[in-house]
Amino acid sequence: MSLFTKFASLAAQYRQLEEAGANPFNVSFDSVLSPTEAVLKGQKVLLLGTNNYLGLTYDPAVIAKAVKATELYGTGTTGSRIANGSYAGHKELEQALAAYFNRKHGMVFSTGYQANLGMLSALAGKDDHLILDADSHASIYDGARLGYAQVTRFRHNSPEDLDNRLRRLKDVPGDKVIVVEGIYSMLGDTAPLKEFAAVKRSYPDTYLVVDEAHSMGVLGENGRGLAEAAGVEADVDFVVGTFSKSLGGVGGFCVSDAEGFDILRVVTRPYMFTASLPPGVIAATLEALHQLQTRPVLRRQLTENANRLYNGLAALGFTVGPEPSPVVSTVMPSPEAAFAFWARLLHGGLYTNVSLPPATPKGLALLRSSVSAAHTPAQIDHAIEMFAEAGREMGLIPAAGAKSQD
Ligand code: PMP
Repeated sequence: MSLFTKFASLAAQYRQLEEAGANPFNVSFDSVLSPTEAVLKGQKVLLLGTNNYLGLTYDPAVIAKAVKATELYGTGTTGSRIANGSYAGHKELEQALAAYFNRKHGMVFSTGYQANLGMLSALAGKDDHLILDADSHASIYDGARLGYAQVTRFRHNSPEDLDNRLRRLKDVPGDKVIVVEGIYSMLGDTAPLKEFAAVKRSYPDTYLVVDEAHSMGVLGENGRGLAEAAGVEADVDFVVGTFSKSLGGVGGFCVSDAEGFDILRVVTRPYMFTASLPPGVIAATLEALHQLQTRPVLRRQLTENANRLYNGLAALGFTVGPEPSPVVSTVMPSPEAAFAFWARLLHGGLYTNVSLPPATPKGLALLRSSVSAAHTPAQIDHAIEMFAEAGREMGLIPAAGAKSQD
C-alpha cells in the first residue's frame, strides 16, 4: 500500500528480524508465571526486562482487591469522568495519591503517557514556554506537541544549560514550565534535581514538573521519588507518575498544591476524551500504593538487586549507565550487536529489552535490563553469568581471567 512506502526501509529491517525469528519488538509470551518468570515458545524464561520494580503484579492482596472491585462494580466504566461520571474509587485513589505525596490535589489519568500528554499540553499555553530535558521520554515530547507552547530543549541533566535557556527567555513574556524526569528510563541515570530546583528558584514565573515514573517506589525515604531523595519536594510544582511500574498496574497521575488545580479536569483533553480506569485497576492500584508505603523492605530488596546487577555487569567489562539503578543498560556497539546479544540471552532463557534511537540518548544501541524486588539474588547472579557467557562469545567483554588494560 502506497501509504506505507514511507516506512519501506524500516519495514525491511523489521522483516529481517521476523525472518530470523528473533524480533525484540514483537515478543509474545505463551504465559506469564510470576513477576520474574514467563514461558516463551515453550521455554521458561527469567524476566529481566519489565518495569515491575516492586514485584507487586502477583501480590495476593492486590489481586483480591481487583477481583472484588470487578465483581462489585463491573469490568469497565465505559466512558470518561466528565461525560459519564466518576466512581468512588477514582476519587479515593486521587485522595490517596495526594495524601501520600503531601499535596492538596491529585488527578488520575488512564495511562502515564496520557498524564504527560494532558499535563504538559494544559499547563503551558500558546504564550508560555516548555523547557524540556533533551532526553525526555516520548510522552513528554508528545505532550509538548499536543499543546501550543514554545518548546525549548536543554542539554540532558545540565543545570548550566537550563540556566542559559531561562536567562535567554527572561524578558520574553509567558510562564516557563521546566520538565525533567526522576530516573531516566534508558540509562537509569537520575536528574541533578537539587541543582535544577536552585536554577528554577532564581527565575520568576517558572514552574517545575518532575516525571517520577521510574523513581516512585524506588527512591526516597518513603518512596516518593527523586524529589524526596534530593530534599526538594517544595520546589516541585507538579509530580507526574504512572501506575504501570512500581505499582504493577496501568494508569497515570499528577499531584500538586497548585491553587485552582481542578480546572484541569475540563481543559485537559487526554483526561476528558478517553474512558476512565476500570474499577478493578483502581482498586488494585490503591492496594499497591498501600503496599508501597507499608513495605519498605521491597525498596531495599530492589536496591540490593539493582546494585548486584549493575556492579556485576560493570565488573565483567560491560559499559553500563552512569549510576546503579533498577534500570541497568549495557551499551552495544551497534543495533545489530544488540539484536544478536538479545537473541543469544533469550535463547539461554533470559528476557531483556533492546532500546534503539530515537528512544535512546546519543544514538546509543542499548541492551536494557531492569530488576525487581521479586528477583532472588540467585536469579540476578544467573543473569550476570548469562551476560558473561554471551558477552565473551560475542567478543563484547574480555575473556574470563583476562586483565583489563586500566
Ligand atoms: N514517563 C516516563 C519517563 C516513562 O518511561 C513512561 C513509560 N515508559 C511513561 C511516562 C508512560 O507511562 P505509561 O506506561 O504508564 O503510559
